[in-house]
Amino acid sequence: MDILVTERLCKTYGKGETRVDALKEASFTVAKGEFVSIVGPSGSGKSTLLNLLGALDVPTSGKVLLDGRDIYAMNENELSVFRRRNIGFIFQAYNLVPELNVEENIALPLLLDYQKPDKRHIGELLDILGLTERRHHLPNQLSGGQQQRVAIGRALATKPVFILADEPTGNLDSKNSAEVMNLLRLSVAKYRQTLIMITHNSNYATFADRVLGVEDGVVTELGGDR
Ligand code: ADP
Ligand code: ADP
Repeated sequence: MDILVTERLCKTYGKGETRVDALKEASFTVAKGEFVSIVGPSGSGKSTLLNLLGALDVPTSGKVLLDGRDIYAMNENELSVFRRRNIGFIFQAYNLVPELNVEENIALPLLLDYQKPDKRHIGELLDILGLTERRHHLPNQLSGGQQQRVAIGRALATKPVFILADEPTGNLDSKNSAEVMNLLRLSVAKYRQTLIMITHNSNYATFADRVLGVEDGVVTELGGDR
């Protein structure tokens, strides 16, 4: 089953001399549970694509269907609820709340959605992410790798169908990066989530089921099982 479908997705920034066609007619599909890596040079359109998939920006033309829903046909309210419930975002900047401890930072998206945190699930996440011993610590008492794992826990807390990650290991050394990648892979496999991840380091693309390349706004299939 295709959980994500994009149809001739285009994004143009600016006009006249400053016009940039950042994304040119991207059409591809992603199956449920797939781990797709997006690679390409700086400025090729990777973040633009990820932002459109997560409805953080609006396309110039084209469609994105997530779980059968045409996300750009929804109004602001519907979209914000849909996004909160179904999509987990992981960025290079961890954006943890400094006053909240590890456990509270992870549970935050549930509280914001008026859901009661499921203690067992949070416990499981802490365990997978190797943060159980650190659950009462504040972000500034953690190493960079640990903070990134908290950000991953937060993205997984609502059990989102999709995880969109923009270079989640960008600030980490290679040992920590490999560890974070492994944990991410384990958790999405466990909850059968679909992960779409931008990566600069092509080594980490090998963790993925499939690799999409972006070059000058054009998305192409670089390998994998379809
Ligand atoms: P990547 O993530 O691969 O580095 P981006 O998607 O950030 O690439 O950028 C693709 C192209 O779109 C680049 O040429 C960039 O300069 C341009 N671009 C990105 N965001 C904006 C913006 N908000 N306004 C104007 N141009 C932008
Ligand atoms: P990493 O290999 O993940 O980068 P570090 O060498 O930075 O780890 O940290 C090692 C240990 O020291 C970690 O368990 C972390 O919890 C602790 N630690 C790191 N920075 C701080 C800090 N600012 N305050 C308290 N503990 C810290």
